Amino acid sequence: MSNARSRIECVRGDLTLERVDAIVNAANEGLRGGGGVDGAIHRAAGPGLLAECIERYPGGCPTGEARITGGHDLAARYVIHAVGPVWRGGGEGEALMLASCFTNALAIAAESGLRTVAFPAISCGVYGYPHDEAARVSIAALVEGLESRPEIEARVVLFSEELLGVFADALG
Ligand code: ADP
Repeated sequence: MSNARSRIECVRGDLTLERVDAIVNAANEGLRGGGGVDGAIHRAAGPGLLAECIERYPGGCPTGEARITGGHDLAARYVIHAVGPVWRGGGEGEALMLASCFTNALAIAAESGLRTVAFPAISCGVYGYPHDEAARVSIAALVEGLESRPEIEARVVLFSEELLGVFADALG
């Protein structure tokens, strides 16, 4: 089994341009689009993405869980919508919920036979998670999830140089 950590790459870029089997969306519980990377993904994917979310997931998706749709007009074949926690100080299960986003997204990717998955910095935007803690939790969850899935390679695509530095440090 190849080393899980070596199958994670942190890069600076725009997630919507990734040519991978699936990009992961930092979605909200409604799965109806929003701001930040969610808005960028829906704009790039076209209206079919929202239509599929409404049709397949009328109840949305609880925090910490994930749901898959097609990629529509994206280069990626699929979108895995994961709902990160809003930061409320760290005492309300935020770390477990953030880790679950990565764990559940990888489980869905594996079930669907996908091999390349690109993630954003979930909860690091309007949801307010401290970046260094989010990076530590996210990378640890990715390492753990990849250990049992040697066929999957993960990329974390960071929008800013600051976040790239923080995630690259956490990856080590
Ligand atoms: P959340 O609500 O989970 O905090 P946001 O979308 O507000 O999600 O932010 C998550 C991260 O995604 C932030 O670091 C933000 O800068 C980043 N981001 C926004 N647009 C893009 C994009 N096109 N590609 C990659 N990352 C992006």
